[in-house]
Amino acid sequence: MRSVEEYLAHVLGQLAPMPGFDVPLAEAQGCLLANDVVAPLDLPPWDNSSMDGYAVRMADVTGASPEFPAELDVIDDIAAGYVSGRVIKPGTCARIMTGAPVPEGTEAIVAVEQTDRGTRRVKILAEPAEGQYIRARGSDVATGQHLLPAGTELGSAQIGMLAAIGIARVEVHPRPRVVVISTGSELVEAGSPLGPGQIYESNSYMLAAAAREAGAVAYRVGMVHDDEQAVLAVVEEQTTRADLIITSGGVSAGAYDVVKGVLSQLGTVEFEGIKMNPGKPQGFGFIGGDFSSGTPIFTLPGNPVSSYVSFEVFVRPAIRRLRGVTPERRAISQATISADLTSPGGKTQFARGWVVPSGAYGLPEVKPVGGASSHLLAGLAQSNCFIVVPEDVTEIKAGEQVDIMRFGAAS
Ligand code: AMP
Ligand code: MG
Repeated sequence: MRSVEEYLAHVLGQLAPMPGFDVPLAEAQGCLLANDVVAPLDLPPWDNSSMDGYAVRMADVTGASPEFPAELDVIDDIAAGYVSGRVIKPGTCARIMTGAPVPEGTEAIVAVEQTDRGTRRVKILAEPAEGQYIRARGSDVATGQHLLPAGTELGSAQIGMLAAIGIARVEVHPRPRVVVISTGSELVEAGSPLGPGQIYESNSYMLAAAAREAGAVAYRVGMVHDDEQAVLAVVEEQTTRADLIITSGGVSAGAYDVVKGVLSQLGTVEFEGIKMNPGKPQGFGFIGGDFSSGTPIFTLPGNPVSSYVSFEVFVRPAIRRLRGVTPERRAISQATISADLTSPGGKTQFARGWVVPSGAYGLPEVKPVGGASSHLLAGLAQSNCFIVVPEDVTEIKAGEQVDIMRFGAAS
């Protein structure tokens, strides 16, 4: 049996970032740049004023003060968006607004607060420093400058930057389209009445939400009965739109574990047990081809907690690999455990926990939540991390240091 790390490396080794794709800027949020962005223009594109005030020559305002103001003719009124054709000559100035191009001859801007706000003649009440309040052309961005390297994640600030240099479409590694298929003849869609022996289907909601948290575009496909041909038909149909398929259920040793039954015959999906708890039965491979041409598929166990742990530990890194994001894995950090915990030997255990920051110093404190069984969804929903217990550890005492892995919206 492979360890968690070995299996994850095995899976990631078969996946690569999706090729670059040209998208409208507004849809690029959260995606990674496929190419370097080189500035096509200067920002500011011309010298402009950073204040509402007056564009002046230095010689005219030397020594200006409230007692001895300099008095100048106002020869133009320059709003943002307007280019003045006038030149500032001795004895003259122009009123100018923030963001407007400074006229020729300007040596400084005097803020409106340091004048009498005149519109034909103006009194200047203070001597400016040379160049004051003039934002030089290219002082933010210079034409040809390498602004953002390939691989940059486009957050709000980067999107603002790209818009500012006039980029309407940008080549990014797209968000993978992830299709989630649940299998099980006992499953009923939330909102419908439950019959005898039936339960509400929850994994597809959970996994689709987790896929979105990982940066994918996720689609839920209604549940499929435990029927080999039905499962195969749905999986094959979804390859046309999916960049990644996730199934849940039907991979254990039961008589109706049809996912394993039908997909193992294809020869491109491998099923194996992993040294972990929960989440032992895993399947990964490709549908409709091999790793170069097919659609990658994860077949996760059906128990909700097993499904969730499997997603967080294997599928989330795979989605991040397709997006080109590194590191792919969740961060492991340390916490002090507040109660005893036991663990089966020989397997990495992902126990549920609630971690809270400690005071100013010291590690955060984590409390185990719920029991070890993989059907305990309530405990999962009341947790914010996994307590990761290594294969060779079977007992942990309160007060000891443990590894934790935050999940959900945490990064
Ligand atoms: P399986 O892996 O198909 O043997 O399912 C294991 C357990 O998880 C069974 O108790 C199932 O009823 C339950 N289960 C499987 N799929 C789902 C699902 N999509 N939503 C909720 N529970 C499920
Ligand atoms: Mg089942």
